[in-house]
Amino acid sequence: MAGVDVRPGQAQCTVAVDLEGQVLTSDGQQQEVSGKGLDYLTYKVLKEIGVSAVGKRLELLQEFQKLKKLRDHAIAGVSVDSLHYKVFNDRIHGQIELHPLCVRIIDTPQFQRLRYIKQLGCAYLVFPGAAHNRFEHSIGVCYLAESFCRTLQYRQPELNITEKDILCVQIAGLCHDLGHGPFSHMFDQLFIPTVRQGSEWKHEKASVDMFDHLIEANQLIDVFAKYGLDAQDINFIKELIKRGKKKPLRDTGRNKDKNFLYEIVANERNGIDVDKWDYFQRDCENLAISSSFDSRRFEKFCRVIEVDGEKQICTRDKEVANVYDMFYTRYSLHRRAYQHKVVKIIESMLVEALVKANDHFLVKGKEGNMLQMSEAIDDMVAYTNMTDDIILQIMRSDEPALAESRHILEMVQRRELYKFIGKTQPTQEHDHGMDFRKKNTVQKMDTMDQNTVEERDPMDQIKEDIIQAQKPEDMDGEPLEADQLIIHVRAVYLLYT
Ligand SMILES: [Zn+2]
Repeated sequence: MAGVDVRPGQAQCTVAVDLEGQVLTSDGQQQEVSGKGLDYLTYKVLKEIGVSAVGKRLELLQEFQKLKKLRDHAIAGVSVDSLHYKVFNDRIHGQIELHPLCVRIIDTPQFQRLRYIKQLGCAYLVFPGAAHNRFEHSIGVCYLAESFCRTLQYRQPELNITEKDILCVQIAGLCHDLGHGPFSHMFDQLFIPTVRQGSEWKHEKASVDMFDHLIEANQLIDVFAKYGLDAQDINFIKELIKRGKKKPLRDTGRNKDKNFLYEIVANERNGIDVDKWDYFQRDCENLAISSSFDSRRFEKFCRVIEVDGEKQICTRDKEVANVYDMFYTRYSLHRRAYQHKVVKIIESMLVEALVKANDHFLVKGKEGNMLQMSEAIDDMVAYTNMTDDIILQIMRSDEPALAESRHILEMVQRRELYKFIGKTQPTQEHDHGMDFRKKNTVQKMDTMDQNTVEERDPMDQIKEDIIQAQKPEDMDGEPLEADQLIIHVRAVYLLYT
């Protein structure tokens, strides 16, 4: 039994712990433990000071956890009465409880938009089960982010993970995919690079823009303040969302001691994060692909350790098989579903339809401005209306300028798909050292004249090779021409890359 004396709004509070016969010190006296001291009452400490029964130690630790929660809320000035958690029944994680601030974020048009964006984009047109949306995935990531934080907080009190830290990481998990466009990755990996060549835009940027817009449009800044989150915390949440691979660790949101918090939602150091844990389980379930990776177990074997002067989330050596299973699950999902050849063919057709519609299909943005789809990524009012249903809007329109797009979309509906004509594995000699995923052009040296450097699109070269390789007996009718060929570069990441 433990009691607490909490005075909200005060920077410190005093916690009195009544151990009911159990002792914190060898003389058996009731102790007054200051709020800060609670962080150091670990399992080991309890054992050292004479709490001999294992069950009692665990029971005490749980009580301390509740007290720490109250202490943190008191420090942040949050009224405990206002903390009405809401229960969601999630198909993957079961009954999950979410903080009222998360619920306020969920109940906005900017978040609800995720109900209309398929998690696996065009894969739904090949796998009938892949009908899940970004909405439920985001809630799942939010839940796992909290669970992971609490596990670390429980096992390593010395990390001083506060309730505010947990809430920030949770919100980052909830909002990390706010910026996805129609059909998820199809939009930022195929459509935008075609209509805005050279653009480095990625959905993570839009997630941050949409998060700002969500707070502003719904006047949530006061609600954030009500739950103890200020401008620095909002900054921290945005950093957690957009964390880039090559960005140095920054201290604007939290100090260096809390750098490990950046590895929970989007871990750019090793790719092991709760975002993947949710979508691996959710995608496998919906695609009926089995996976033996167990994120629950993995979470329990993680500890924060200082490596090369930086606090990082590490795992036990004996968990290597579980890590292998995680990356193997990723590989299987790519090979069997994400990169399925028919999925890629349909993606190519939808992108072609959207590109042809771009000049004629306009979306309403700020102050009633009508914008092209390619411009909507800069205007969050317009982008809020950009979901998978743009395809239906184009199909149902009778605008003559959209006829070509409509024709392609109708072909997809009638399953008159473009034909798959073959695949090849470029060798190192052939790829001239170029990265197909990143570069549109490659410099090709003319072997006859070393001074001549020709800029060439690698895709044009591949198309030319295919056209030249056509044999009259293979041509069923007319020979293929360059504009009838769509080259898809399949990027299946190898294990541990
Ligand atoms: Zn995600």
